[in-house]
Amino acid sequence: MRIGARMSATTRRRIPALSYVKSLRCRECGSDYPIEPQYVCDFCFGPLEVSYDYDAIARVISRERITKGPLTMWRYHDLLPVDAEMALDMHTGFTPLIRANNLGRLLGLNNLYIKNDSVNPTFSFKDRVVSVASAKALEFEFDTLACASTGNLAGSVSAHGAKAGMPTMVFFPSDLERGKILGAGIYGATLVAVDGTYDQVNRLCSELADNHRWAFVNINMRPFYSEGSKTLAYEVAEQLGWRAPDACVVPGASGSLFTKIYKGLNELADLGLIDSAAHTKMHIAQAEGCSPIVTAYDEDTPHVRPVTPDTVAKSLAIGNPADGFYSLKTIENSGGSAVSAPEDEIVEGIQILAETEGIFTETAGGVVISGLRKLVQSGKIQPDDLTVAYITGNGLKTQEVVEPLINPVFTTPAYDDFMNNMAAREERNGKSNG
Ligand SMILES: *Cc1c(COP(=O)(O)O)cnc(C)c1O
Ligand SMILES: [Zn+2]
Repeated sequence: MRIGARMSATTRRRIPALSYVKSLRCRECGSDYPIEPQYVCDFCFGPLEVSYDYDAIARVISRERITKGPLTMWRYHDLLPVDAEMALDMHTGFTPLIRANNLGRLLGLNNLYIKNDSVNPTFSFKDRVVSVASAKALEFEFDTLACASTGNLAGSVSAHGAKAGMPTMVFFPSDLERGKILGAGIYGATLVAVDGTYDQVNRLCSELADNHRWAFVNINMRPFYSEGSKTLAYEVAEQLGWRAPDACVVPGASGSLFTKIYKGLNELADLGLIDSAAHTKMHIAQAEGCSPIVTAYDEDTPHVRPVTPDTVAKSLAIGNPADGFYSLKTIENSGGSAVSAPEDEIVEGIQILAETEGIFTETAGGVVISGLRKLVQSGKIQPDDLTVAYITGNGLKTQEVVEPLINPVFTTPAYDDFMNNMAAREERNGKSNG
């Protein structure tokens, strides 16, 4: 059945189980829990993860069945932990995978693709995780939708809250970009600007989640939320003609997206939908000013030391990444690596992508492109590798960082005036170039 947008708690009925979820399982000790809004193990405090009945999935799933599904992330419903048929459908997903010949030529790559996830309903990949989490929040009959956000999550949660007819509270560091605050507030959510870092916002929200019946999508709903990121693996594999790339470059904040893309590729291989994902190397990109996972990788330790973020890439500014340890495992299991983008190259990354492929990304995308360039230069990605760079957010939300690059020619509508102003500009450019 479909979840109506404004059903009251009394008219909401129990939803028949349509998913293949078996339990929530502790990633550390393997204890199983029922499907409830719980996220840590009672025994060992390990994080819980959704576990599926893959035999049952294997009996029904096929390339054909997926291809016949909607042109959204819900075509992979069999591999998501949602019982409602199409939950909160905002038409998220099935975003373009673009062959990036111009950027490839510039960087020295012959098989480069851009997964452009900046064109989702609220302009970032967060719509994927929030679609799943908000569907689950409705199933669990929560009365408020909430999140601790580095920016994009606030917008996505607010939009989904509006669509679901749920009161929504979004918490974020008060130094957030204007575009991200506007892009959340417009949907009518209560905005809470916290004077602190994301990690402090997260701590406050964890306390709130313990004491209120609020669905914090990335805290008490995290096991479900994070599964939504797998669809970024499924789509890329399908769009490549059912195969896994040789290399993925993924921006990392908590590290969840990075680990889940690898999980998604391996699920497809295990289910026989692609031949193998054994050749796929996973590379995580962080901004130099907030790169705890890269530091641990460079120092060859499994312990991710928290940092205080100081980066232009605010969407990635998580100093104490919840999935840092598992990100390092993903790197190890896949033979990948971790790379940091120098702060002064992040805007350049944005500019390069825009000028070669016509895609305007935010700072996280600048981190990916700058990181990709380093990975090619260091030989970690080879020229012929089938490479996918994940562009996860939209440049219109972080306009302040590119503002200084933009200089229109000012003129009156008179022909001569235009010609003169144009000539003056060319002379200025000539001077500054030489
Ligand atoms: C949140 C976010 C990420 C990273 O998400 P994690 O799963 O926490 O690593 C990447 N890119 C953008 C644009 C984001 O908003
Ligand atoms: Zn445990």
